Amino acid sequence: MVLVIGAGLAGCLAALALRERGLPVTLLSQAPALATASQFSYGGVPWWGAPALARAAELWQALERRHGPLGWQSCTLTLHGGCANPPDDPQALAAAGAGLEARLVAAGESALVLLGDQGQLLGLELPYGRVDGVVLAAALPAALERAGVRRHTGSVLALECPGASPWRVRLAGGDTLEAETVLLAAGAASTQLWPPLKPELATSWAGVLALSADDLAACDLPSGARTGIVMPLLGQRQALEQQTPSLGEARAVVDAGLAPWGTAWLLGQISLVNPLGQFDPEPDPAWMEARLRSGLARVWPQLARLPARYHQLPVSFTATGVPLVGPVAQAPGLWVCAGVGAPFAALPPLLETLADQLAAGSRS
Ligand SMILES: Cc1cc2nc3c(=O)[nH]c(=O)nc-3n(C[C@H](O)[C@H](O)[C@H](O)COP(=O)(O)OP(=O)(O)OC[C@H]3O[C@@H](n4cnc5c(N)ncnc54)[C@H](O)[C@@H]3O)c2cc1C
Repeated sequence: MVLVIGAGLAGCLAALALRERGLPVTLLSQAPALATASQFSYGGVPWWGAPALARAAELWQALERRHGPLGWQSCTLTLHGGCANPPDDPQALAAAGAGLEARLVAAGESALVLLGDQGQLLGLELPYGRVDGVVLAAALPAALERAGVRRHTGSVLALECPGASPWRVRLAGGDTLEAETVLLAAGAASTQLWPPLKPELATSWAGVLALSADDLAACDLPSGARTGIVMPLLGQRQALEQQTPSLGEARAVVDAGLAPWGTAWLLGQISLVNPLGQFDPEPDPAWMEARLRSGLARVWPQLARLPARYHQLPVSFTATGVPLVGPVAQAPGLWVCAGVGAPFAALPPLLETLADQLAAGSRS
């Protein structure tokens, strides 16, 4: 039996992939009311972003054929030229636009270039896909049940491997589960549960505002919002994550983005990154929301002041961008799937490989 810890995107898709290979699977989830990064994600799928992502759209469609609608949609991605973090840098904007166009051409796609009255670059409109977090969260429980995934609710306190015997998973409240194979897919909590992952796996805090359609009805929507997701061409989060090893102190950046989310919208996002290895306490939500709104005010003042509910979640990442997926060194039977960049595009292909390897290992 494979025990999968964590019922976010990684844990749920892993559980489905393992069942397809005939393995018995138990999926351990925390209380359903707890928010996860997967739930508040834009769910964007840039299949043209790298060769490893090229099959992402096709794999989501295959998942839907097997498990029913999961929220997959073709849409557009509009990358705007606004900058929520001073200073503005028109040269960097033009360079980022050119780099992205080249990547699209290499992937056999093309972008619509949006120019201003003076011929200046305003943004790009690209083909894109997205998985709606609200639809996905509503569909997964029934899909997992139909696939024969056993569910267990509980919060893991510790993972113990007493020698050659099975892994023991101690839960809050005193229960213990045992399994020969454990897949740790607990997102940002993965390092708390297995601290040796700490040098590679880092955590940022991401904050977004959830707006109802009514909240937005009276506002001018940014260009591209009616057909898909809107994000900045000069996104700052990824660059900040890459700087983590040399970061002297915690830093926050705002990437002005807007994405449909069920019948509502997500407006974000602020990312707070701590230096690598430093404890990641939850930041003050009032400070995070104020910083998010002041960054948004530079780009979309009409949206920045709307009343909306603020949410923040921890997200795992690696500074190198290389995901942490596979067997864990010096811990036979323990596997991990965390720190995956662009996970809505990267996880479907990665989890096919992971499930094949786990199935092969369980037979040998
Ligand atoms: C605003 C925002 C926008 C984003 N946009 C995109 C995007 O466009 N495209 C994209 O690909 N990605 C995007 N992401 C990133 C993406 O959402 C996350 O990286 C991804 O969902 C992480 O999935 P996960 O399953 O690894 O982790 P999580 O979703 O964090 O799930 C972890 C699971 O582990 C459980 N868990 C934790 N601790 C324990 C414990 N002790 N015991 C038992 N269970 C535990 C949690 O309850 C949860 O169910 C975005 C994220 C945010 C916040």
